[in-house]
Amino acid sequence: MSFKETIQSNIQLSYFEGQIPVNYQYTLGVAGNKFFETLKQKGEFIASVCSHCGVKTIYPLIYCEECFNPIDTYVSIELEGELYSFTKCYRDYQGNTYDEPHVIGLIRFDGIKGGIIHRLNINEKDLKLGIRVKAKLKPTNKRTGGLDDIVCFEKV
Ligand SMILES: [Zn+2]
Repeated sequence: MSFKETIQSNIQLSYFEGQIPVNYQYTLGVAGNKFFETLKQKGEFIASVCSHCGVKTIYPLIYCEECFNPIDTYVSIELEGELYSFTKCYRDYQGNTYDEPHVIGLIRFDGIKGGIIHRLNINEKDLKLGIRVKAKLKPTNKRTGGLDDIVCFEKV
């Protein structure tokens, strides 16, 4: 395929077989670590709160994106939010077809800038923008401090 050809299907997109050695670790940073430690230990989401302009952000930050002031305040927020956007995924990264489409959503939280993108477990007939959804978490003894501590979001 040349770069001038028009792609007619997403499975025509280029990908390469094989492996790329990954010799680094991605760090969560100070605020990201607080978020996932709180999720693991308490089963809660936290947002950062800028003491200068008052903006609350999830995932939490150590500097405010609005006024650039350092942040050292974090508050727990509800596990419930609003389904802001969603999409269905029919294939995995290798192009293999899923038995059932995976539904992924962007969840935004009341009064909070940002959001969480995660799996949805919602009946097709109920899947609408703006519905209230709530995170379903793994039991405390199964949580590892990662995004998979959230099983999915479900309709409230
Ligand atoms: Zn600010």
